[in-house]
Amino acid sequence: MTHGIDALLSRTHDQWLAAADQLTFETRPFIDGHFTDALSGDTFTSHSPRDGATLAKVQAAGAEDVDRAVRSARGAFEDGRWRDLPPKERKGVLLRWAELIRGHAAELALLDTLEMGKPITESVRIDVDKAAETIAWYAEAIDKTYDEVAPTPGDALALITREPLGVIGAVIPWNYALLIASWKLGPALATGNSVVLKPAEQTSLAALRLAALASEAGLPDGVFNVVPGRGEVAGQALGRHPEVDKIAFTGSVEVARLFQVYAGESNGKQVAVEAGGKSPQLVLADADIEAAASAVAWGIFYNAGQTCNAGSRVVVHASVKDRLLDAVRRITEDTFRMGDPLDPATVMGPLVDENQLASVLGHIERGVADGATVVFGGGRTLTESGGSYVEPTVLDGVVNTSAVAQREIFGPVLAVVTYDGDADEGIRLANESDYGLVASVWTRDVAVAHRAAKRLRAGTVWINTFDASDVVTPFGGFKATGAGRDKSLHAWDAYTALKTTWVNLA
Ligand code: NAP
Ligand code: MG
Repeated sequence: MTHGIDALLSRTHDQWLAAADQLTFETRPFIDGHFTDALSGDTFTSHSPRDGATLAKVQAAGAEDVDRAVRSARGAFEDGRWRDLPPKERKGVLLRWAELIRGHAAELALLDTLEMGKPITESVRIDVDKAAETIAWYAEAIDKTYDEVAPTPGDALALITREPLGVIGAVIPWNYALLIASWKLGPALATGNSVVLKPAEQTSLAALRLAALASEAGLPDGVFNVVPGRGEVAGQALGRHPEVDKIAFTGSVEVARLFQVYAGESNGKQVAVEAGGKSPQLVLADADIEAAASAVAWGIFYNAGQTCNAGSRVVVHASVKDRLLDAVRRITEDTFRMGDPLDPATVMGPLVDENQLASVLGHIERGVADGATVVFGGGRTLTESGGSYVEPTVLDGVVNTSAVAQREIFGPVLAVVTYDGDADEGIRLANESDYGLVASVWTRDVAVAHRAAKRLRAGTVWINTFDASDVVTPFGGFKATGAGRDKSLHAWDAYTALKTTWVNLA
């Protein structure tokens, strides 16, 4: 972490409150290198879930605004103003952008925390710092990535080169707005594409600032556009646009499938999908229970459970269940201090909005109706703040086929499923899900751990840890969670097409 980021992590609650008071909001779409009024005339209101206050009226891009953005992106791609720059120059622009993101960390983190409600220290540490790191990592790869020469007979030379796809439509959720944006923007821009980004309505403000900083860093006009707007309007317009070559989507399974339909009904554009999860943490009878309990608590209560790879389902051997849940309760009480997300002492903030809160409480009710028991939590809290806070909640006695074990709740609600047999039974239950984003296995037996890791159907399997990650490893899911991987050089491939150039040497 840089010095500037470290300094932010020692700011007080009062300092953050004062900084929040000074903030101004840019609320217009960013098209062709400039903020510009939406032609649609439509707006939506951005509320802060920390206290319910109105932050800003954001201009909602309509289909004609999305069209302007796509045409600007297409023009920038076709005339080569970005992709044809020397690799070192493109690297320089993206590195400057990463530095500007770090230099504006306080502002970006505040926008993210005010809009989404995550604790300010996490916005600084994860959303802003990791977004900058991701963009810098892909920038560095620009002049260190080589193409290939195929093993042809001597009378031919066959080059295999990677070329940018063209215009990328990036559609992202609100839970890690800057970080997930960087997972798309980093490789898409590094490989020479143009991008039109549609952020989620709940988190448009930081994305708009990101675009202005890219411009300041020297990214040519039109290469990166942001169209805040409603999913069914702006998102759909992007998904159906004939000049978009690929949609890079992160969000729910339901909306992911809509994008596949949009693609099929328009130009057959590629659609990469990173959707949700109901990820299991499998705790075997010989596990280190204290370590597992800590990972279970962090796995579900971090970001108030609004994490695609939340460990929302624990599959635990009956012989250690009580010890595990006692430790989870103790760790939760000791660690997950709830409160104003602008207070650096806060570990768990509100849910993103009142709709999400109602949905999460509904899931808890349904779980109890289906026979689960509430171990702790279960309700709304800190109501006097005006914010959308839900207590950390553990539901025991959950049947794995019930709704609370199968549906993604996207809140601080853990479903505990107990098994009595051998490790195979635990693995079977862990795999009994439509999703396949991540999984963990907790055991001291290295052979059992590897056998389980091979059989768990998930894009990432952790052994005796949870949520360990880095830009160097791919991230994405199996099964309904989708196809496509963010991060690592595998994402580089996702934004390029292979071209064969065959030269006759005879
Ligand atoms: P969402 O409702 O699927 O929305 C995702 C994006 O799609 C938003 O920008 C949304 O815009 C847009 N959208 C919504 N309806 C649309 C439509 N009819 N046509 C076109 N676009 C549409 O997801 P979310 O509520 O923002 O985020 C939570 C979900 O994201 C969870 O399921 C979570 O698991 C998933 N997620 C997955 C990952 C991963 O890497 N696998 C990471 C983070 C989150 P509006 O919201 O403005 O309408
Ligand atoms: Mg939404």
